This record gives sequence, structure tokens and C-alpha cells, in this order.
Amino acid sequence: MPRLTPPTPTRSRIMAAIRGHDTAPERLVRSALHRHGLRFRLHVRDLPGRPDIVLPRHRTVILVHGCFWHRHLGCPKGTLPATNRAWWVAKLRRNRARDRRNVRDLQAAGWRVIVVGECELGAGRGTAAQRAMRLERFARGLVRKVRGA
Ligand SMILES: [Zn+2]
Repeated sequence: MPRLTPPTPTRSRIMAAIRGHDTAPERLVRSALHRHGLRFRLHVRDLPGRPDIVLPRHRTVILVHGCFWHRHLGCPKGTLPATNRAWWVAKLRRNRARDRRNVRDLQAAGWRVIVVGECELGAGRGTAAQRAMRLERFARGLVRKVRGA
């Protein structure tokens, strides 16, 4: 069994900065919803997992998942750091288990849960205009889903 050592302080700090409850992908989703006239609450404490975006009128919760922290398998951004692999495997496995539990608990309480992956938001290749177009296309689909159309 390899010894599980936590990452170096520097690495931890970097990762902590990437994490958090007001990430760039989350802001993208919020502004897209807002643009389309949907109203929401943020980080609702009394719901399982303190979900990012809650639309009470539509009984819908939107979780914006960073590909690294939620270990988006098969995604280039979901790959593990080269060092301390065993530690990261254990850590990210716990994250995924917690994700699953939160989704289950929310659904059991009657919420529809939509999980949005960071990599669905149009970043990556292309010009700024192309990225904006991809994001807008995604936003329209998301809004349709929320409205149940
Ligand atoms: Zn991804």
C-alpha cells in the first residue's frame, strides 16, 4: 500500500483557490440564466449539499461541477495530478460519493437536479465569438430543460 500523503502546501493553496463556491463556470451559468429571465437563489444552506443554484419556482437545482474536483471521467480536465496520485484518487472518490449522495437526497426531497459540467460551457478552442456562441447554445438548452419544455 502506498502511503497517502497530502499535497504540498503550495499545491493545496493552488487547488483551494481553484475550488470554491463562486467559480467562473458557476458565474457563466448564472449570467446565462439571468439573461434568459430565470430567477434563482444561491448556495441554499438548508438543502443537501448547499446547492449552487436553486430555482424554487421550477423546483429545480442546478449543480455546476468543475471537471477536476468532480472527477469528470473521460474529460481532459478530469485527469489526476501526476504527484500524490493515491491521495488524489481517495480525495476525488470521496467528492464523487458526496455528489451522488447530494443528488439522491435532493431528488428524494422532490427536486429536479441538473448537473452542468464545466466543459459543457463552451470554453476551449476557437475564437471568443465561437466560445460565446457555444455557451449561448448550451444556455438555451439549459433554460428549456429548466422550464420543462
Ligand atoms: Zn469535463
